Amino acid sequence: MNLFTETNLSPDILKAIGELGYESPTEIQKQTIPFILSDIRDLIALAQTGTGKTAAFSLPILDMIDETSRKIQLLVLCPTRELCLQIAKDIKNYSKYMQNIKTTAVYGGSSIMEQIRSLKDKPQIIVGTPGRVIDLINRKALDFSAIHWLVLDEADEMLSMGFKDELETILSETPETKQTFLFSATMNKEVERISKNYLTKPHRISVGSINEVKKNIKHEYYVAGYRQKKEALKRLIDSNPNQYSIIFCRTRMETQEVADFLMQNGYAADALHGDLSQAQRDTVMKKFRLKNIDILVATDVAARGLDVNSLTHVIHYSLPDDPEVFVHRSGRTGRAGKDGISMALIKPEESRKLKQIKFATKIEINEGKIPTGEDIVKAQVGGVFESLFEVHEDFFEFDDALIPDLSAFTKEELVHKLLQFQLKDLALYYKDRHDLIEQKLSSRDDDSRRDRGRDRGRDRDRGDRGRERGGKPRRKNENMVRFFFNLGKKDQLKKLDVLDIINKATAGKSKKRAEIGDIEILEKFSFFEVEKSFKGDLLSNISTMKFRGKDMRAEEAN
Ligand code: AMP
Repeated sequence: MNLFTETNLSPDILKAIGELGYESPTEIQKQTIPFILSDIRDLIALAQTGTGKTAAFSLPILDMIDETSRKIQLLVLCPTRELCLQIAKDIKNYSKYMQNIKTTAVYGGSSIMEQIRSLKDKPQIIVGTPGRVIDLINRKALDFSAIHWLVLDEADEMLSMGFKDELETILSETPETKQTFLFSATMNKEVERISKNYLTKPHRISVGSINEVKKNIKHEYYVAGYRQKKEALKRLIDSNPNQYSIIFCRTRMETQEVADFLMQNGYAADALHGDLSQAQRDTVMKKFRLKNIDILVATDVAARGLDVNSLTHVIHYSLPDDPEVFVHRSGRTGRAGKDGISMALIKPEESRKLKQIKFATKIEINEGKIPTGEDIVKAQVGGVFESLFEVHEDFFEFDDALIPDLSAFTKEELVHKLLQFQLKDLALYYKDRHDLIEQKLSSRDDDSRRDRGRDRGRDRDRGDRGRERGGKPRRKNENMVRFFFNLGKKDQLKKLDVLDIINKATAGKSKKRAEIGDIEILEKFSFFEVEKSFKGDLLSNISTMKFRGKDMRAEEAN
């Protein structure tokens, strides 16, 4: 099956996806579409976002849904409000020509009364977050008696966010005759347990794990010292014109700093991080989706809620500690059949970290040279022509009489003039600049001696160091407290989990978010640094929380 026309999907669906530009099914779609159309078994599909999951389950379901019934037939559960809106939007697009089909999204953080009102439209499809679905069940606003299909999307994510009880309630509240499809990027014990208890002899499909390294992404690294980093970033952006990219940073402060630098230098960029309110984050994400801005500077956690598939580049402004995060970040580009480029800025003293990433991920990351002014102007000329050939329509009326007599110029002279005009500012900027002095990766790796959470410059502090319960020696920061945490790698704890846990434990009444410093995950336990003023909140809240069913305990490290 290489084309959608070979799938037996109805003409209404084929027309809708044709308009979206889908021609051939993705790997997961090749496997799920015929299965769902012909089999009554439950299904476990291992696949991550970006593989075409939503169409994989919704196209065959739309093909079979009863348009004459006004009862809920499909319920999709997913972890976040952003994903919920995205899935509902996709399904609405796919069912554009099925006039009687209605899809409603229900999610927390938005008026429940309004959502109850929208349910009066009698949608056949509900896409919801587990918490809000339970609230609506409790208010008797949802009738699940006719549910035929239940989809658990990003099941691992829902479980690690603590939705276990909600999922179990929903699974037991829906008819036993339903067919359940569980989609998950990873298969851990919790996901296995849910599937064992609630799925019947499921058929299994896998299209690669979260660690799968996409072949269509080119990886490059560029060495730049701390003081050169912003200028190096500017050069990488300028030498890749027409890009639509995310720049990943480690901390909120760094994210804001980099975004401010880019905005001050005239780029259509903005920052996305946890210090912004939900409304501010929504605005930034909307601007980025609509391409009002084409560069987004983000922390790993904040970028999670964003689902865009046409990124041309991912830039690692700072390397993550966890190689898995590097793969995850890079995988934001190269989606939906397109090629992508991942570029990492690396400080000379980070050679060990780079080696670890290369070793753990088996990715070939080649060194690139920070572009010179001359390289950049050349690349920009190419970019102008690329954009020129992208224009296939007239945007405004234009009277040829407005064009003066140009017969004194040859075609080449005219093109030269237009290019000079278009690239004048950029060319002048680089004309007055020295190219960056080439940096080499240092064979002496002194990264671990430095305060890795914050880049304070090249000064090295050799004084205030001590070993703390097996942790690495480090410079002491007066504003931060270092905590010992009882969970580690053996509990499948990842850096992103620790960030989530700290954010949840310190999310008090005040809008201010805790600054997070170094995080070190060891085999049996971990260490992390959090802003001092959040110590009380953190200690009292964390002991009431659970991670994958395990109790959490933190105490101040010696
Ligand atoms: P998902 O994994 O559902 O988030 O989908 C990733 C992206 O791929 C979405 O933007 C879809 O619109 C797009 N997509 C899904 N299936 C196809 C297909 N067969 N051909 C082209 N694009 C697709």
